[in-house]
Amino acid sequence: MKELIFTTGRVKIQSLKKYRKMTKKRKKEILGKAIAELKKLFPDAKIQLQYDSSFQLLVATILSAQCTDERVNKVTAVLFAKYKTPEDFMRLSVEKLERLVYSTGYYKAKSKHIKSMSKMLVEDFDGNVPDTMNKLLLLSGVGRKTANVILGHVFDTPAIVVDTHVTRIVNRLNICSSKNAVKIESELVELIDKKDWVLFTHLMINFGRAICSARSPKCSQCSLNDYCAHFSITQKKN
Ligand code: SF4
Repeated sequence: MKELIFTTGRVKIQSLKKYRKMTKKRKKEILGKAIAELKKLFPDAKIQLQYDSSFQLLVATILSAQCTDERVNKVTAVLFAKYKTPEDFMRLSVEKLERLVYSTGYYKAKSKHIKSMSKMLVEDFDGNVPDTMNKLLLLSGVGRKTANVILGHVFDTPAIVVDTHVTRIVNRLNICSSKNAVKIESELVELIDKKDWVLFTHLMINFGRAICSARSPKCSQCSLNDYCAHFSITQKKN
């Protein structure tokens, strides 16, 4: 709960009490209103990473850790022009791959994962990206978040990707009280209509960037402030 707000123990306790009081029905209601509002605000919300295949999305998602989508797209535009398949990446030397992805940060770890993930795809999956969570999680560098990106965008399997924006906003709204992505995902799938699962993450990302930023949320301009715990608590403080 610390991230929720803040500075004093009194505020944390107040927030926790409110969380305990909120019913599942109320959480669903708040999320429903938030989703409807954000759909109007961000009608074009969608994945920003550019890719032409499930494999390319896998590589781009691995590169996007701690990096902006804009930067990843610049890097992959060059990378995918020459290297397109798991076989291509298997043949590419790790040193060359590191140079190509250097500007995305953590380039050594990312290159190592991409090389080894490509090798696994070729040797264990006939060069194809698998279409289940369990199999995706076997791949090097692939965690639940990356697997959900692939399932939701390539295989039309509804999935909620929990990133830093989702984590921050659902905590501020008092829907969840954890920073654990797996726990948040398991709570959200119970509260959000399946048809909105994939879009939900993109709405949160747009909203987090434009309004509910980590450092200075624009609460007074926010159309969700009527049901936001962060807002109601900080208002009471002021
Ligand atoms: S009121 Fe503020 S903290 Fe709450 S959702 Fe809106 S911007 Fe975020």
